[in-house]
Amino acid sequence: MTMRRTRPAALVLALAATLVLTACGQDSEGGGKATPKGGKGSTIGIAMPTKSSERWIADGNNMAQQFRALGYKTDLQYGEDSVDQQVAQVENMITKGVDALVIAAIDGRALGDVLKQAADQHIKVISYDRLILGSPNVDYYASFDNEKVGVLQATYIVDKLGLKNGSKQGPFNIELFAGSPDDNNTRYFFQGALKTLQPYIDKKQLVVRSGQTRLNQVTTLRWDGATAQKRMDDLLTKAYSTEHVDAVLSPYDGISIGILSALRSGGYGTTAKPYPVVTGQDAEVASVKSIIAGDQAQTVYKDTRALAKQAVQMADAVLTGKTPQVNDTKTYDNEKKVVPAFLLDPVSVDKSNYRATLVDSGYIKASDLK
Ligand code: BGC
Repeated sequence: MTMRRTRPAALVLALAATLVLTACGQDSEGGGKATPKGGKGSTIGIAMPTKSSERWIADGNNMAQQFRALGYKTDLQYGEDSVDQQVAQVENMITKGVDALVIAAIDGRALGDVLKQAADQHIKVISYDRLILGSPNVDYYASFDNEKVGVLQATYIVDKLGLKNGSKQGPFNIELFAGSPDDNNTRYFFQGALKTLQPYIDKKQLVVRSGQTRLNQVTTLRWDGATAQKRMDDLLTKAYSTEHVDAVLSPYDGISIGILSALRSGGYGTTAKPYPVVTGQDAEVASVKSIIAGDQAQTVYKDTRALAKQAVQMADAVLTGKTPQVNDTKTYDNEKKVVPAFLLDPVSVDKSNYRATLVDSGYIKASDLK
């Protein structure tokens, strides 16, 4: 009796398993995963962090477009800066049977469980721009030289204040801002900046009047401009009632906009009280306009078209049995493994070169800067 009932059930189960395996792009024969399909018909899950910043919209669209040009299907999702939402989106992509995942994490440590599921389904994972931490199931990493981003921001400040070449200039007042504490890039940006600024802080040519110089004192959750604006307001009230702030290290254009709003409310932006040197990152249109207007001083241009191309190259290679191109196999240890990476070069941009770097390269349309 029992026997008779289990047999059809077992059959149904076996059939279901075959269907699931097929849907996952797996070879149901031989019990293991054969070479993934690749090419036409395969689907790539692209998980981006938020639409609140231009760059991620461009990253997602560029990748989707490039994958489609190679014959892939794409499933592009934005987590809207909610960690739970992003985890659910990736989980859903795995259930739907994507063949590879490209993920720019909101919280670099939140994806371990879901990537275990991906690995169980033999789905390859490309960590995009931000390294996913604490998981062995990250196959490749496409990003920029993140420490250099911080070096470029800090070097700009050093140059603008005329601190280089053993000059005795100063003391100048500076305040430091960093990105989201759960984004692995944050510490690289900050490390690069601080190692450049530290010699001048040590010689007292740069003074951080708030005393806030440790990373955990200066981060900005989710890179939120309003949060940065509030912190800058507080700093102006507490440390600058009689002093002028001469430079603000800002890691990202959205944060720079917040900082500049606080400065404006604090009476900065006049001939008598000029804006400090405020840096940034991403060459977002609003910030480039601000640079042209002489408010924000600098940004760091990272060509997201080139980054998308690298990630697409990596995913395409793993899906077609080729070896992805990498140029760094040492720097990005995610605590479980050193993830082979392709790192692109960031470029410092200010009023003097925005046209040549951003407009002439087609990254921003001249008409968008009017
Ligand atoms: C990216 C930056 C970006 C920041 C905020 C970082 O992970 O590398 O380009 O400015 O996130 O979105």
